[in-house]
Amino acid sequence: MEESLSRINEVIRQATFQARGSSLKQRKKRDPTRPSARWTASARVGREQGTALAIVLSTIGCAHARSDSGGCTMCSYLLDGVQEMPTSDQIVAQFKFAMKELEMKRAPLSVKIYTSGSFLDNEEIPMEARSEILRLIAEDERIREVILESRPEYVSNSILSSIRELLGDRTIEIGMGLESVSDTVRTICINKNFDLLMFKDALKTAKNYNIGMRAYVLLKPPLLTERDALLDAIATIQEARRLGVTTISLNPVNVQKDTLVEKLWTRGNYRPPWLWSVVEVLREASSISDGWMKIVCDPVAGGKRRGAHNCGKCDTNIVEAIRQFSLSQNPTVLEHLTCDCISQWEHTLNHEDFSLVVHR
Ligand code: SF4
Ligand SMILES: [Zn+2]
Repeated sequence: MEESLSRINEVIRQATFQARGSSLKQRKKRDPTRPSARWTASARVGREQGTALAIVLSTIGCAHARSDSGGCTMCSYLLDGVQEMPTSDQIVAQFKFAMKELEMKRAPLSVKIYTSGSFLDNEEIPMEARSEILRLIAEDERIREVILESRPEYVSNSILSSIRELLGDRTIEIGMGLESVSDTVRTICINKNFDLLMFKDALKTAKNYNIGMRAYVLLKPPLLTERDALLDAIATIQEARRLGVTTISLNPVNVQKDTLVEKLWTRGNYRPPWLWSVVEVLREASSISDGWMKIVCDPVAGGKRRGAHNCGKCDTNIVEAIRQFSLSQNPTVLEHLTCDCISQWEHTLNHEDFSLVVHR
């Protein structure tokens, strides 16, 4: 069994690598002192409503995606990065530029640092740049919460102890793409290249420094039916709760450029999840959490062909309800949502497995 799984994984790895094609070499020239993106949004910060600044630093990108392993089947974040490694000073300049967005904002603030890879990877973010960025955050009293993204292999006692020391008693979370509780789904459908044990070890290390874990849960990786994807996401959230994850970020797959998912989608072999599935998973997540975990979801391209979508008529309302839920954590905003297309979704849940027909 193990052997056949690793053979399937090899096929997926090659297909993911090929789907990326030459996009790695065609990355746009960017100003190395400017981040790839930054935006602010209303957000729940602790128990209050405040503002979150999300920053995507422009770096050489995720080591897994740059390697022969091919990266994850749904991810093209690498395209946000640059070919040449920016210097530490340039990375710090990117951060300072993004922080201007917070000039007029009132506490409580949350800062999320994304890198299209791992903020804790020294190859992507040199140690001196990371320390300087955290020092600048520590100077700002309004910032109560900091979220840093990383794969588990870069989580170590030495890095986390220095982060804790620099940020004092602020709430800190490491955002990590657990994606699925199942090693098979994570390996075969996502090509994630780490197992549950690595996630658990990273979580344990984070707990030693009172650092929380924000687990990204992927809804509808390729090669799963709508029903299996829904059940997999719920099982993942259950396990995350058991392990002591502090936040669940539910990420419905969106079709990104030069990915295996895009290849399957253009051939009619993949449909992003229904928004009804997103709502169902969030309702379940809220009940599993019972107030222990924060549950957030911001469906990228929600209501569009490349994102989680329904029939086109009800999408805007449903996406808005999902956003309201993330902000308020109140599951009642997900009740009483309805549309004629709900019966089509139910039909898909009941029959897709039997027919094995993938609808366009
Ligand atoms: S999802 Fe994360 S780990 Fe996977 S390729 Fe993208 S950045 Fe790397
Ligand atoms: Zn509808």
